[in-house]
Amino acid sequence: MKQLQVDVAVIGAGSAGLAAFRAAGVHQQSVLLIEGGAYGTTCARVGCMPSKLLIAAADAAHTAAGAARFGVQAGPLRIDGNAVMARVRAERDRFVDFVLDGVEKIPLAQRLRGHARFVAPQRLQIDQHTQVDAGRIVIATGSQAQVPAQFRAAGELAIVSDDVFGWRELPPSVAVIGTGSIGLELGQALHRLGVRVALFGRERLTQLTDPVLQQYARGCFGAELDLRLGAAILEVRRDREEVILVSRSADGARHEERYSAILCATGRVPNLQALALEHAGIALDGRGVPLFDPVTMRCGDSAIFIAGDASNERPLLHEAADQGRIAGDNAGGYPAIKRGLRREPISIVFSDPQIALVGRSWQSLQSAGAGRFAVGQVSFENQGRSRVMLQNQGLLRVYGEYGTDLFVGAEMIGPRAEHLAHLLAWACQSRMTVAQMRTMPYYHPVVEEAVRTALRDLQEQLLHGLPPIEHCTDCTPGT
Ligand SMILES: Cc1cc2nc3c(=O)[nH]c(=O)nc-3n(C[C@H](O)[C@H](O)[C@H](O)COP(=O)(O)OP(=O)(O)OC[C@H]3O[C@@H](n4cnc5c(N)ncnc54)[C@H](O)[C@@H]3O)c2cc1C
Repeated sequence: MKQLQVDVAVIGAGSAGLAAFRAAGVHQQSVLLIEGGAYGTTCARVGCMPSKLLIAAADAAHTAAGAARFGVQAGPLRIDGNAVMARVRAERDRFVDFVLDGVEKIPLAQRLRGHARFVAPQRLQIDQHTQVDAGRIVIATGSQAQVPAQFRAAGELAIVSDDVFGWRELPPSVAVIGTGSIGLELGQALHRLGVRVALFGRERLTQLTDPVLQQYARGCFGAELDLRLGAAILEVRRDREEVILVSRSADGARHEERYSAILCATGRVPNLQALALEHAGIALDGRGVPLFDPVTMRCGDSAIFIAGDASNERPLLHEAADQGRIAGDNAGGYPAIKRGLRREPISIVFSDPQIALVGRSWQSLQSAGAGRFAVGQVSFENQGRSRVMLQNQGLLRVYGEYGTDLFVGAEMIGPRAEHLAHLLAWACQSRMTVAQMRTMPYYHPVVEEAVRTALRDLQEQLLHGLPPIEHCTDCTPGT
């Protein structure tokens, strides 16, 4: 058995692990990067990038199919599934190669291949070949999609998102289970590429928490997609190269349908089980995730740090990179611990129309005290630029705080929501008031004009819409 002694060991060479490795290295310590799977990161290999490549192809098909509405005849639409998937894979490989180039620049002595698990708080066992004693350890093991037991009868026809990006052809039909961001993005893209898709979910679409937007989303996506919210899956059977899915829809009707595959998009689970965290000497929550401080990424008062999807906090790429940087910096500078920069929350679903959340969600404001916050809104249905582009679907809801006039968050469905969300997240992080945001320039005709309208509505509510008084210290009985 080989023995190694290092100052910092980073488990996982994904986006969080690579950021942690670089940040720890700045402190000129001996740092070791341990990777059990393939190099290349989830983001580039099977996550953000290939999913957006598939969506880009779907957008092209959708634009061509809708061109006649502008008086432009694009001819009969034909989708070459083989060419679509070839581009997805080729461009994806290019992104992966950029990551691999970076990994190869790391000296071999600082890289170790194999799966790590704890045998003591500062000792890791790597497969059966190496034992690593590390002064500090960063857990950056990511997360994985899983096929729930209910669907395993479908055998290899029950797949997860990773599998989609290995396809050589588009299948004739897919049942997508799960209406979170990955289920909606992939389900809509496949539908627009000519695949027969049914989307099964519970009551909610994506992470939108505002009930007004949830209702809008159901109408808007339900008009295009075969959306089966509230359906129960009764039975899954395999019949040669097809899966038979028996379900009961929300109205009680029984359906028996055949699909070429079942895509399970039922949520991702942090990769923690194989780490044997019971030997790490750190406290875990009820789901086995280490308890940590989100501004230092330190687990309790240990010399163990956590970053990325493994932390189960905000499973997004930019958060993984931020958390990795903070964890690596603190592992490298240990015992000095610094608070790192955590940004205003922003998340985007690349559906059409897009969905985004910024700052504090409607739900979190409700828990803080519904009467403390006002809501402004604007519809995109008659918004000038949105109508020009024939993308006039959606609703933006902005939230402000009574008394301080601060802009605190927004949820939205709408055209170019990815850009509106950034604008609003920057305002939120800058702690701008609604009045200050209204003094900013707005060009014409742009989708951003809708933000101005929503903010005007919000300011009206803040000025004139009286919040319900929950507890008034000045009030005497009877007033
Ligand atoms: C389909 C899809 C679309 C997405 N789209 C977006 C998007 O548009 N925008 C966005 O912000 N985010 C998106 N995400 C999420 C984003 O990809 C992740 O949040 C991010 O990649 C997580 O990075 P990470 O470093 O935590 O994990 P990873 O990149 O998965 O890295 C973890 C690494 O740890 C290794 N590992 C695990 N266990 C061990 C062990 N015991 N020993 C050694 N090595 C180990 C793994 O092999 C892996 O290489 C998407 C994800 C998916 C799946």
